Amino acid sequence: MSKPELDHIGIAVRSIEAASIYEALGLQVDHLETVESQGVRTAFLSVGDSNLELLEPTNPDSPVARYIEKRGEGIHHLCFRVDDIDAHLQRLAAAGYRLINESSVPGAHGCRVAFLHPSAGSGVLIELSEREKKS
Ligand code: ZN
Repeated sequence: MSKPELDHIGIAVRSIEAASIYEALGLQVDHLETVESQGVRTAFLSVGDSNLELLEPTNPDSPVARYIEKRGEGIHHLCFRVDDIDAHLQRLAAAGYRLINESSVPGAHGCRVAFLHPSAGSGVLIELSEREKKS
């Protein structure tokens, strides 16, 4: 099992227009994608080997909409890129960590993703992501 890398930092925003501050810093939006299963429109801005992921809710019932309702806009989650997401989930569950997703689900960029419960990360929502295997 190789060491996870920081894939992206997720930021909950009311509108993708929030990218403008990062564009003013010299970053650029490399990828826009709506992920219906998560109820979000995403914008990715690369920063070195990592990314910022802006998350705009597509409907008032999506988890990100409820998050903004409760806690306002701001840093929403950290995402680690791993090479075998389902093995990681099994290992974490066996170690007693609470998971939101027991198994991986489709995410942006054709990745498989899963979230751990914030109680497992001292209040930090942690996402794991595995890139599409190119065979
Ligand atoms: Zn994410």
